[in-house]
Amino acid sequence: MTITAHDLAHLRRCVELAREALAAGDEPFGSMLVAADGTVLFEDRNRVKDGDATQHPEFAISRWAAGHLSPEERAAATVYTSGEHCPMCAASHGWVGLGRIVYATSTHQLSTWLREWGVPAAPVAALPIGDIIPGALTEGPVDDLAAEVQTLYRTCFAQRPSTSP
Ligand code: ZN
Repeated sequence: MTITAHDLAHLRRCVELAREALAAGDEPFGSMLVAADGTVLFEDRNRVKDGDATQHPEFAISRWAAGHLSPEERAAATVYTSGEHCPMCAASHGWVGLGRIVYATSTHQLSTWLREWGVPAAPVAALPIGDIIPGALTEGPVDDLAAEVQTLYRTCFAQRPSTSP
């Protein structure tokens, strides 16, 4: 499978959610869950500013899916996200049996940028989804969105010494 125009539209919405998160004082990550028929089921953004570093949108999607979708519906759904899942979120995705993942920027890109900006290492290893979910169907990164997402990351992380991608 490749990135379609529908995929790109959903990813652009994720980047918009990431922008909303940054404007609210949270970290710039946004994600959405889309059913097999194209219906947008759930969307969220990062909400870590009040001190709970596990408030990632991909984790929220996994919990929502577990409570609202059958195993078949979860497997057929697609998760779109502005930044590739961290290991916590990838594990939650795998445990609840969600399907395809499409991300705008990769964990490798984020790690590289954070190093370039001198940001101290995060407390969780920057592993790709495939290291956490064997056989995961993933697409990304998407070059057309890299510069925009990188700018959001730089605004957030290059100015302060903490990260939770
Ligand atoms: Zn995460």
